[in-house]
Amino acid sequence: MPGLNANEYDAVIIGAGIGGLVCGCYLAKAGMKVLIAEQHFKPGGYCTSFKRGKFTFDAAAHSFGGYRKDGIVRKVFRDLGLDMLLNIKRYDPSDIIMSPDYKISFRSDVAETIKDFISAFPLESDNIEKFFHFLNNPSPISFARMRNWTFRQLLDHYFLDNKLKTILAFPLLGNGGLPPSLMSAFTGSKIFTEFLLDGGYYPEGGMQALPIALVGRFKELGGELRLSCLVKQIVVRDGKVAGVHFENNDFISSRYVVSNCDAMQTFSDLLGSEVVSKEILNEIETMSPSLSMFVLYLGVDNNTFQSLHQPGTNLWILNSYDIEQIYSKINKGHFDEIDDFMMRISPDNQTILAFVNAPFKSRAYWTSKKGKLTEIFIKGIMRNVLPDLTKHLIFRDAATPYTLYRYTLNYKGAAYGWSGIPSQSSFSRYRCPSFINGLYLTGHWITQVQGIPGVIYIGYDTAKMISRK
Ligand SMILES: Cc1cc2nc3c(=O)[nH]c(=O)nc-3n(C[C@H](O)[C@H](O)[C@H](O)COP(=O)(O)OP(=O)(O)OC[C@H]3O[C@@H](n4cnc5c(N)ncnc54)[C@H](O)[C@@H]3O)c2cc1C
Repeated sequence: MPGLNANEYDAVIIGAGIGGLVCGCYLAKAGMKVLIAEQHFKPGGYCTSFKRGKFTFDAAAHSFGGYRKDGIVRKVFRDLGLDMLLNIKRYDPSDIIMSPDYKISFRSDVAETIKDFISAFPLESDNIEKFFHFLNNPSPISFARMRNWTFRQLLDHYFLDNKLKTILAFPLLGNGGLPPSLMSAFTGSKIFTEFLLDGGYYPEGGMQALPIALVGRFKELGGELRLSCLVKQIVVRDGKVAGVHFENNDFISSRYVVSNCDAMQTFSDLLGSEVVSKEILNEIETMSPSLSMFVLYLGVDNNTFQSLHQPGTNLWILNSYDIEQIYSKINKGHFDEIDDFMMRISPDNQTILAFVNAPFKSRAYWTSKKGKLTEIFIKGIMRNVLPDLTKHLIFRDAATPYTLYRYTLNYKGAAYGWSGIPSQSSFSRYRCPSFINGLYLTGHWITQVQGIPGVIYIGYDTAKMISRK
């Protein structure tokens, strides 16, 4: 790049999560000299896969939404030429909710999904139509009106039947870590449209295919990625970013720094109290991260379960209609039995992933609980879905909230950034903190629309803000 020495960049991005990678691609595409520094030995953050023997597991994210014709993920992938590189399949139904009385499928044809809900809850048919109409035709005015609403208020606005409300709220607990009484109506509605009404997309080769394709494109555009490279400090001089220090004390100078890592680390550790005011640090310390997860990775005999449940579909197993009670138990880490969870048989039919939200606790706590919880969870899957599971199990392992923290450094192993409660929605004002020129935040700590579609949008938008400058 003309005018820049080897250790000088236009932009340094901290973290090669999907948000950081998308931002990096767009900045490089705009002609900037960009470095992405990632502390892990592979790119992708929560969107990675790993191998154990003959099995490949997605570590955390296991499908994505927002890939409809005019969806944000489709737009970005097309812009970056990734739609031609990746072979993305949509599993249909994307999600099935199985409760003691109902089995409801989310299909790619939304009319079919609505039909399923209406045949289960005929007395609520008009309300179901209106609710889905609202989700599919979101107007800024209605969202402005319900700015401070919880998802519970939105459900109460449309429905009477408690079982129906619970069925609608359960996937939001898994996909956002909150019960309807706490989740903002905006976040809940967006999870619905991006994860459920337009969900179930999966790249051939597993989720790692997404970061691999993004990294390939980033490098073609002239970007540089350094793996196993932990950023220790964001250097600020006279109110403006000057660059970053790595763990080995190397210094890289940069006009812009984009932090794709968690907001707590960014403000408290990488910037610190010399740069960030006490008031802002206090505000951040009182904020609550989203819940973490306990993830089960199971390797099974070939073709064992294909005939039972469709591979590639998220199965939501719901046994109780008291969602607040389910949340209260997982939030406290009370896992005597696990009967409300999500599981997915992989498209190659060789592995099963199962998820339950879980609180962050110490490393010692999770080291002592991991084995027992793995057994409890396997029993829950056998009781509710696959009675013969253990006869076919070849491999088992699990990730605790501490594991998720260890691999990504996400504060408290949070699955979705800050928890999506209405009072925390204003944090996005720190996307580009006014007191530090040249610093931007991107990724799931700065968006109210969580998961892969949310971070792809915010990565793109962050790059747009910088390129405009
Ligand atoms: C168990 C689980 C299941 C999920 N399932 C889904 C799903 O199916 N679909 C979906 O859409 N979403 C899912 N999500 C959420 C989704 O994966 C995340 O919201 C999204 O991937 C976050 O992307 P990101 O770029 O914001 O950050 P991250 O993926 O957290 O990436 C941040 C990166 O920064 C790096 N980093 C941190 N600190 C430093 C540092 N100091 N120096 C250098 N690098 C650093 C980390 O190593 C990491 O690679 C799931 C999350 C979890 C935990």
